[in-house]
Amino acid sequence: MNETMTTELHDAVVVGGGAAGLNAALVLGRARRRVAVVDAGEPRNAPAAHMQGFLSRDGMPPAALLAVGREEVARYGVDLIDGRVEHIEPAASEETGYVVHLAGGPVLHARRVVVATGLRDGLPELPGLAERWGRDVLHCPYCHAWEVRDRPLGVLGTGPGAVNQALLLRQWSADVVLLAHTLELTGAERERLAARGVRVVEGRIVRLVSDDGRLRGVELVNGQVVPREAVFVFPQPVPRDALLFGLDCARDDNGWVTTDRTGRTSVPGVWAVGNVADPRAQVVTAAGMGAAAAFALDHDLVAEEIDRAVAEHRASGAALPA
Ligand SMILES: Cc1cc2nc3c(=O)[nH]c(=O)nc-3n(C[C@H](O)[C@H](O)[C@H](O)COP(=O)(O)OP(=O)(O)OC[C@H]3O[C@@H](n4cnc5c(N)ncnc54)[C@H](O)[C@@H]3O)c2cc1C
Repeated sequence: MNETMTTELHDAVVVGGGAAGLNAALVLGRARRRVAVVDAGEPRNAPAAHMQGFLSRDGMPPAALLAVGREEVARYGVDLIDGRVEHIEPAASEETGYVVHLAGGPVLHARRVVVATGLRDGLPELPGLAERWGRDVLHCPYCHAWEVRDRPLGVLGTGPGAVNQALLLRQWSADVVLLAHTLELTGAERERLAARGVRVVEGRIVRLVSDDGRLRGVELVNGQVVPREAVFVFPQPVPRDALLFGLDCARDDNGWVTTDRTGRTSVPGVWAVGNVADPRAQVVTAAGMGAAAAFALDHDLVAEEIDRAVAEHRASGAALPA
Protein backbone atom coordinates (compact mmCIF):
# COMPACT_ATOMS: atom_id res chain seq x y z
CA MET A 1 0.00 0.00 0.00
CA ASN A 2 1.50 3.32 -0.96
CA GLU A 3 0.65 6.71 0.48
CA THR A 4 -1.29 7.90 -2.58
CA MET A 5 -3.71 5.00 -2.15
CA THR A 6 -4.80 6.31 1.22
CA THR A 7 -5.15 10.01 0.43
CA GLU A 8 -5.87 10.54 -3.26
CA LEU A 9 -9.48 11.16 -4.25
CA HIS A 10 -10.48 8.83 -7.08
CA ASP A 11 -13.32 9.80 -9.36
CA ALA A 12 -14.50 6.21 -9.13
CA VAL A 13 -13.54 3.06 -7.27
CA VAL A 14 -14.75 -0.11 -8.95
CA VAL A 15 -15.09 -3.09 -6.63
CA GLY A 16 -14.68 -6.31 -8.59
CA GLY A 17 -12.53 -6.81 -11.67
CA GLY A 18 -14.62 -9.25 -13.70
CA ALA A 19 -16.15 -8.36 -17.06
CA ALA A 20 -18.58 -5.86 -15.51
CA GLY A 21 -16.07 -4.01 -13.37
CA LEU A 22 -13.30 -3.93 -15.97
CA ASN A 23 -15.58 -2.64 -18.71
CA ALA A 24 -16.77 0.14 -16.39
CA ALA A 25 -13.15 0.99 -15.64
CA LEU A 26 -12.24 0.95 -19.34
CA VAL A 27 -14.90 3.50 -20.27
CA LEU A 28 -14.14 5.69 -17.25
CA GLY A 29 -10.39 5.54 -17.88
CA ARG A 30 -10.96 6.63 -21.46
CA ALA A 31 -13.09 9.49 -20.12
CA ARG A 32 -9.90 10.64 -18.31
CA ARG A 33 -11.30 9.76 -14.92
CA ARG A 34 -9.07 8.75 -12.02
CA VAL A 35 -10.16 5.17 -11.40
CA ALA A 36 -9.13 2.26 -9.19
CA VAL A 37 -10.33 -1.32 -9.56
CA VAL A 38 -10.06 -3.53 -6.47
CA ASP A 39 -10.38 -7.21 -7.28
CA ALA A 40 -10.28 -10.32 -5.12
CA GLY A 41 -9.51 -12.50 -8.16
CA GLU A 42 -12.36 -15.04 -7.93
CA PRO A 43 -14.48 -14.61 -11.06
CA ARG A 44 -17.57 -16.79 -11.22
CA ASN A 45 -16.62 -18.70 -14.37
CA ALA A 46 -13.08 -19.53 -13.22
CA PRO A 47 -13.77 -23.33 -13.12
CA ALA A 48 -14.65 -23.35 -16.85
CA ALA A 49 -11.90 -23.90 -19.42
CA HIS A 50 -13.63 -21.80 -22.06
CA MET A 51 -16.01 -18.87 -22.26
CA GLN A 52 -18.68 -19.10 -24.93
CA GLY A 53 -21.13 -16.75 -26.55
CA PHE A 54 -19.16 -13.49 -26.49
CA LEU A 55 -18.89 -12.20 -30.03
CA SER A 56 -15.25 -12.17 -31.19
CA ARG A 57 -14.19 -13.94 -27.93
CA ASP A 58 -16.10 -17.21 -28.31
CA GLY A 59 -14.08 -20.06 -26.78
CA MET A 60 -11.51 -17.85 -25.08
CA PRO A 61 -10.35 -19.05 -21.63
CA PRO A 62 -12.06 -16.86 -18.97
CA ALA A 63 -8.72 -15.88 -17.41
CA ALA A 64 -7.41 -14.74 -20.81
CA LEU A 65 -10.33 -12.33 -21.25
CA LEU A 66 -9.62 -10.75 -17.89
CA ALA A 67 -5.87 -10.57 -18.57
CA VAL A 68 -6.55 -8.65 -21.80
CA GLY A 69 -9.08 -6.45 -19.98
CA ARG A 70 -6.61 -5.60 -17.22
CA GLU A 71 -3.98 -4.72 -19.79
CA GLU A 72 -6.43 -2.47 -21.64
CA VAL A 73 -7.59 -0.54 -18.57
CA ALA A 74 -4.01 -0.11 -17.36
CA ARG A 75 -3.25 1.75 -20.62
CA TYR A 76 -5.63 4.49 -19.48
CA GLY A 77 -3.99 4.87 -16.08
CA VAL A 78 -6.53 2.83 -14.11
CA ASP A 79 -5.04 1.53 -10.81
CA LEU A 80 -5.48 -2.24 -10.50
CA ILE A 81 -5.37 -3.32 -6.90
CA ASP A 82 -5.41 -6.98 -5.87
CA GLY A 83 -7.43 -7.07 -2.68
CA ARG A 84 -10.83 -7.38 -1.09
CA VAL A 85 -13.10 -4.52 -0.10
CA GLU A 86 -14.63 -5.19 3.29
CA HIS A 87 -16.73 -2.12 3.85
CA ILE A 88 -17.77 1.12 2.15
CA GLU A 89 -19.07 4.14 4.05
CA PRO A 90 -20.12 7.63 3.08
CA ALA A 91 -17.33 10.16 3.56
CA ALA A 92 -17.76 12.84 6.16
CA SER A 93 -18.11 15.50 3.45
CA GLU A 94 -20.66 14.92 0.68
CA GLU A 95 -18.22 16.18 -1.91
CA THR A 96 -15.70 13.44 -1.26
CA GLY A 97 -18.24 10.65 -1.70
CA TYR A 98 -17.21 7.35 -0.18
CA VAL A 99 -14.48 5.74 1.86
CA VAL A 100 -13.63 2.27 0.64
CA HIS A 101 -11.99 0.00 3.23
CA LEU A 102 -9.83 -2.86 2.00
CA ALA A 103 -8.98 -5.98 4.01
CA GLY A 104 -5.83 -5.39 6.01
CA GLY A 105 -6.49 -1.69 6.56
CA PRO A 106 -5.85 0.28 3.34
CA VAL A 107 -8.46 2.89 2.47
CA LEU A 108 -9.45 4.52 -0.83
CA HIS A 109 -11.47 7.71 -1.23
CA ALA A 110 -13.92 7.83 -4.11
CA ARG A 111 -16.41 10.33 -5.48
CA ARG A 112 -18.44 7.45 -6.91
CA VAL A 113 -18.49 3.69 -6.42
CA VAL A 114 -19.26 0.85 -8.81
CA VAL A 115 -19.97 -2.48 -7.12
CA ALA A 116 -19.31 -5.34 -9.55
CA THR A 117 -18.70 -8.16 -7.11
CA GLY A 118 -20.63 -10.89 -8.93
CA LEU A 119 -22.38 -13.83 -7.32
CA ARG A 120 -21.63 -17.19 -5.79
CA ASP A 121 -23.30 -20.32 -7.15
CA GLY A 122 -24.90 -22.28 -4.31
CA LEU A 123 -24.50 -25.87 -5.51
CA PRO A 124 -26.62 -28.79 -4.36
CA GLU A 125 -24.77 -30.82 -1.74
CA LEU A 126 -24.22 -34.08 -3.57
CA PRO A 127 -20.94 -35.98 -3.23
CA GLY A 128 -18.81 -35.73 -6.35
CA LEU A 129 -20.64 -32.69 -7.74
CA ALA A 130 -18.55 -29.69 -6.67
CA GLU A 131 -15.33 -31.28 -8.06
CA ARG A 132 -16.85 -31.43 -11.55
CA TRP A 133 -18.50 -27.97 -11.47
CA GLY A 134 -17.83 -25.99 -14.65
CA ARG A 135 -16.31 -29.07 -16.33
CA ASP A 136 -19.06 -31.66 -16.88
CA VAL A 137 -21.44 -30.44 -14.18
CA LEU A 138 -22.94 -27.46 -15.96
CA HIS A 139 -25.77 -25.00 -15.52
CA CYS A 140 -26.26 -22.88 -18.62
CA PRO A 141 -27.16 -24.58 -21.92
CA TYR A 142 -26.32 -21.40 -23.83
CA CYS A 143 -22.79 -21.42 -22.37
CA HIS A 144 -21.99 -25.12 -22.52
CA ALA A 145 -24.54 -27.33 -24.28
CA TRP A 146 -22.99 -26.96 -27.74
CA GLU A 147 -19.79 -28.57 -26.40
CA VAL A 148 -21.76 -31.63 -25.17
CA ARG A 149 -24.28 -31.81 -28.01
CA ASP A 150 -25.53 -35.26 -28.99
CA ARG A 151 -24.04 -36.81 -25.82
CA PRO A 152 -25.90 -38.62 -23.02
CA LEU A 153 -26.95 -35.72 -20.78
CA GLY A 154 -28.65 -35.60 -17.40
CA VAL A 155 -30.54 -32.97 -15.47
CA LEU A 156 -30.45 -33.26 -11.69
CA GLY A 157 -33.87 -32.81 -10.10
CA THR A 158 -32.59 -30.74 -7.22
CA GLY A 159 -35.07 -27.89 -7.70
CA PRO A 160 -38.23 -26.90 -9.59
CA GLY A 161 -36.25 -25.35 -12.48
CA ALA A 162 -35.03 -28.82 -13.49
CA VAL A 163 -38.09 -29.65 -15.60
CA ASN A 164 -37.69 -26.62 -17.83
CA GLN A 165 -33.96 -27.15 -17.99
CA ALA A 166 -34.52 -30.71 -19.26
CA LEU A 167 -37.11 -29.55 -21.80
CA LEU A 168 -34.68 -26.91 -23.06
CA LEU A 169 -31.66 -29.17 -23.15
CA ARG A 170 -33.42 -31.60 -25.45
CA GLN A 171 -32.63 -29.10 -28.19
CA TRP A 172 -28.96 -30.11 -27.99
CA SER A 173 -29.22 -33.88 -27.51
CA ALA A 174 -31.73 -36.65 -28.19
CA ASP A 175 -30.52 -38.45 -25.04
CA VAL A 176 -31.63 -36.34 -22.08
CA VAL A 177 -32.58 -37.93 -18.76
CA LEU A 178 -34.24 -36.06 -15.92
CA LEU A 179 -33.04 -37.65 -12.69
CA ALA A 180 -36.06 -36.95 -10.54
CA HIS A 181 -34.23 -37.14 -7.17
CA THR A 182 -36.44 -35.13 -4.77
CA LEU A 183 -38.75 -33.69 -7.45
CA GLU A 184 -42.40 -34.60 -7.36
CA LEU A 185 -43.49 -34.27 -10.97
CA THR A 186 -47.05 -33.41 -11.89
CA GLY A 187 -48.95 -35.29 -14.57
CA ALA A 188 -48.71 -32.29 -16.87
CA GLU A 189 -44.94 -32.11 -16.43
CA ARG A 190 -44.56 -35.82 -17.14
CA GLU A 191 -46.62 -35.41 -20.31
CA ARG A 192 -44.51 -32.49 -21.54
CA LEU A 193 -41.28 -34.36 -20.82
CA ALA A 194 -42.51 -37.51 -22.58
CA ALA A 195 -43.75 -35.53 -25.57
CA ARG A 196 -40.39 -33.80 -25.88
CA GLY A 197 -38.52 -37.13 -25.64
CA VAL A 198 -36.97 -36.60 -22.20
CA ARG A 199 -36.74 -39.79 -20.11
CA VAL A 200 -37.47 -39.55 -16.37
CA VAL A 201 -35.50 -41.77 -14.00
CA GLU A 202 -36.92 -41.97 -10.48
CA GLY A 203 -34.87 -42.40 -7.32
CA ARG A 204 -32.74 -40.34 -5.02
CA ILE A 205 -29.28 -39.44 -6.22
CA VAL A 206 -26.52 -40.44 -3.81
CA ARG A 207 -23.44 -39.23 -5.71
CA LEU A 208 -21.87 -38.37 -9.03
CA VAL A 209 -19.40 -40.95 -10.27
CA SER A 210 -16.22 -39.86 -12.06
CA ASP A 211 -13.26 -41.75 -13.51
CA ASP A 212 -10.01 -40.44 -14.92
CA GLY A 213 -11.05 -36.84 -14.49
CA ARG A 214 -14.40 -37.11 -16.24
CA LEU A 215 -17.98 -37.72 -15.25
CA ARG A 216 -19.15 -41.28 -15.76
CA GLY A 217 -22.65 -41.24 -14.36
CA VAL A 218 -25.09 -40.58 -11.54
CA GLU A 219 -25.51 -43.16 -8.80
CA LEU A 220 -28.97 -43.65 -7.34
CA VAL A 221 -29.95 -44.93 -3.92
CA ASN A 222 -30.70 -48.40 -5.33
CA GLY A 223 -27.08 -48.68 -6.54
CA GLN A 224 -27.89 -48.13 -10.23
CA VAL A 225 -25.45 -45.85 -12.03
CA VAL A 226 -27.15 -43.93 -14.85
CA PRO A 227 -24.37 -43.36 -17.40
CA ARG A 228 -24.11 -39.66 -18.33
CA GLU A 229 -21.28 -37.66 -19.90
CA ALA A 230 -22.49 -34.33 -18.53
CA VAL A 231 -25.20 -33.19 -16.15
CA PHE A 232 -26.93 -29.86 -15.68
CA VAL A 233 -28.03 -28.37 -12.36
CA PHE A 234 -29.77 -25.20 -11.27
CA PRO A 235 -27.50 -23.55 -8.69
CA GLN A 236 -28.88 -21.05 -6.22
CA PRO A 237 -27.49 -17.62 -7.18
CA VAL A 238 -26.17 -15.85 -4.08
CA PRO A 239 -25.23 -12.24 -4.90
CA ARG A 240 -22.12 -10.86 -3.24
CA ASP A 241 -24.03 -7.78 -2.19
CA ALA A 242 -22.96 -7.09 1.41
CA LEU A 243 -21.23 -3.85 0.37
CA LEU A 244 -24.42 -2.56 -1.25
CA PHE A 245 -26.67 -3.29 1.70
CA GLY A 246 -24.03 -1.96 4.08
CA LEU A 247 -24.73 1.33 2.25
CA ASP A 248 -28.50 0.84 2.60
CA CYS A 249 -29.21 0.37 -1.12
CA ALA A 250 -32.84 -0.59 -1.74
CA ARG A 251 -33.78 -4.19 -2.57
CA ASP A 252 -36.62 -5.72 -4.57
CA ASP A 253 -39.08 -8.30 -3.23
CA ASN A 254 -36.60 -11.09 -3.96
CA GLY A 255 -33.86 -9.38 -1.99
CA TRP A 256 -31.82 -8.28 -5.02
CA VAL A 257 -30.51 -4.72 -5.28
CA THR A 258 -32.76 -2.42 -7.32
CA THR A 259 -31.17 -0.28 -10.00
CA ASP A 260 -32.19 1.81 -12.97
CA ARG A 261 -31.18 0.82 -16.50
CA THR A 262 -27.69 2.21 -15.97
CA GLY A 263 -27.09 0.26 -12.75
CA ARG A 264 -27.65 3.30 -10.52
CA THR A 265 -28.85 2.18 -7.08
CA SER A 266 -31.14 4.07 -4.72
CA VAL A 267 -28.05 5.51 -2.98
CA PRO A 268 -26.60 8.53 -4.83
CA GLY A 269 -23.18 7.84 -6.30
CA VAL A 270 -23.40 4.03 -6.04
CA TRP A 271 -23.80 1.77 -9.06
CA ALA A 272 -24.25 -2.03 -9.12
CA VAL A 273 -23.48 -3.98 -12.31
CA GLY A 274 -23.02 -7.53 -13.54
CA ASN A 275 -24.14 -10.60 -11.65
CA VAL A 276 -24.40 -8.81 -8.31
CA ALA A 277 -27.41 -7.00 -9.78
CA ASP A 278 -28.66 -9.56 -12.31
CA PRO A 279 -28.10 -13.32 -12.02
CA ARG A 280 -28.93 -13.80 -15.71
CA ALA A 281 -26.09 -11.62 -16.95
CA GLN A 282 -23.64 -13.49 -19.15
CA VAL A 283 -20.11 -12.21 -19.64
CA VAL A 284 -21.08 -10.02 -22.59
CA THR A 285 -24.12 -8.67 -20.73
CA ALA A 286 -22.10 -7.98 -17.58
CA ALA A 287 -19.53 -6.09 -19.66
CA GLY A 288 -22.35 -4.07 -21.26
CA MET A 289 -23.80 -3.23 -17.86
CA GLY A 290 -20.38 -1.97 -16.78
CA ALA A 291 -20.11 0.24 -19.86
CA ALA A 292 -23.62 1.66 -19.37
CA ALA A 293 -22.89 2.47 -15.73
CA ALA A 294 -19.67 4.21 -16.68
CA PHE A 295 -21.49 6.52 -19.11
CA ALA A 296 -24.08 7.46 -16.48
CA LEU A 297 -21.50 7.83 -13.73
CA ASP A 298 -19.36 10.14 -15.86
CA HIS A 299 -22.41 12.28 -16.69
CA ASP A 300 -23.14 12.47 -12.97
CA LEU A 301 -19.60 13.68 -12.26
CA VAL A 302 -19.76 16.22 -15.09
CA ALA A 303 -23.06 17.61 -13.75
CA GLU A 304 -21.51 18.01 -10.29
CA GLU A 305 -18.43 19.69 -11.76
CA ILE A 306 -20.52 22.13 -13.79
CA ASP A 307 -22.61 23.06 -10.74
CA ARG A 308 -19.46 23.70 -8.74
CA ALA A 309 -17.86 25.71 -11.56
CA VAL A 310 -20.96 27.90 -11.90
CA ALA A 311 -21.02 28.54 -8.14
CA GLU A 312 -17.32 29.48 -8.19
CA HIS A 313 -17.83 31.63 -11.25
CA ARG A 314 -20.60 33.54 -9.54
CA ALA A 315 -18.66 33.82 -6.29
CA SER A 316 -15.73 35.29 -8.18
CA GLY A 317 -18.00 38.17 -9.24
CA ALA A 318 -17.41 37.45 -12.92
CA ALA A 319 -19.95 39.15 -15.14
CA LEU A 320 -22.63 36.96 -16.72
CA PRO A 321 -22.11 36.47 -20.45
CA ALA A 322 -24.39 38.75 -22.48
C1 LIG B 1 -19.00 -22.54 -14.55
C2 LIG B 1 -19.48 -21.29 -15.24
C3 LIG B 1 -19.26 -21.14 -16.58
C4 LIG B 1 -19.73 -19.99 -17.24
N1 LIG B 1 -19.54 -19.91 -18.58
C5 LIG B 1 -19.97 -18.80 -19.21
C6 LIG B 1 -19.80 -18.70 -20.63
O1 LIG B 1 -19.29 -19.61 -21.30
N2 LIG B 1 -20.23 -17.56 -21.24
C7 LIG B 1 -20.81 -16.56 -20.53
O2 LIG B 1 -21.16 -15.53 -21.12
N3 LIG B 1 -21.01 -16.64 -19.19
C8 LIG B 1 -20.59 -17.74 -18.53
N4 LIG B 1 -20.77 -17.84 -17.17
C9 LIG B 1 -21.35 -16.69 -16.45
C10 LIG B 1 -20.23 -15.68 -16.11
O3 LIG B 1 -19.40 -16.27 -15.14
C11 LIG B 1 -20.81 -14.38 -15.58
O4 LIG B 1 -21.70 -13.85 -16.54
C12 LIG B 1 -19.72 -13.32 -15.34
O5 LIG B 1 -18.69 -13.85 -14.55
C13 LIG B 1 -20.32 -12.09 -14.65
O6 LIG B 1 -19.33 -11.11 -14.55
P1 LIG B 1 -19.23 -10.15 -13.26
O7 LIG B 1 -18.17 -9.16 -13.60
O8 LIG B 1 -20.56 -9.67 -12.88
O9 LIG B 1 -18.76 -11.10 -12.06
P2 LIG B 1 -17.43 -11.96 -11.87
O10 LIG B 1 -16.86 -12.38 -13.17
O11 LIG B 1 -17.78 -13.04 -10.91
O12 LIG B 1 -16.40 -10.96 -11.21
C14 LIG B 1 -16.60 -10.45 -9.93
C15 LIG B 1 -15.23 -10.14 -9.33
O13 LIG B 1 -15.41 -9.40 -8.11
C16 LIG B 1 -14.50 -9.89 -7.16
N5 LIG B 1 -15.02 -9.55 -5.82
C17 LIG B 1 -16.11 -10.04 -5.17
N6 LIG B 1 -16.25 -9.44 -3.96
C18 LIG B 1 -15.21 -8.58 -3.86
C19 LIG B 1 -14.81 -7.67 -2.84
N7 LIG B 1 -15.50 -7.55 -1.71
N8 LIG B 1 -13.70 -6.93 -3.04
C20 LIG B 1 -13.00 -7.04 -4.21
N9 LIG B 1 -13.34 -7.87 -5.20
C21 LIG B 1 -14.44 -8.63 -5.03
C22 LIG B 1 -14.48 -11.39 -7.41
O14 LIG B 1 -13.34 -11.98 -6.80
C23 LIG B 1 -14.46 -11.41 -8.94
O15 LIG B 1 -13.13 -11.35 -9.43
C24 LIG B 1 -20.37 -18.99 -16.50
C25 LIG B 1 -20.59 -19.15 -15.14
C26 LIG B 1 -20.17 -20.30 -14.51
C27 LIG B 1 -20.42 -20.48 -13.05
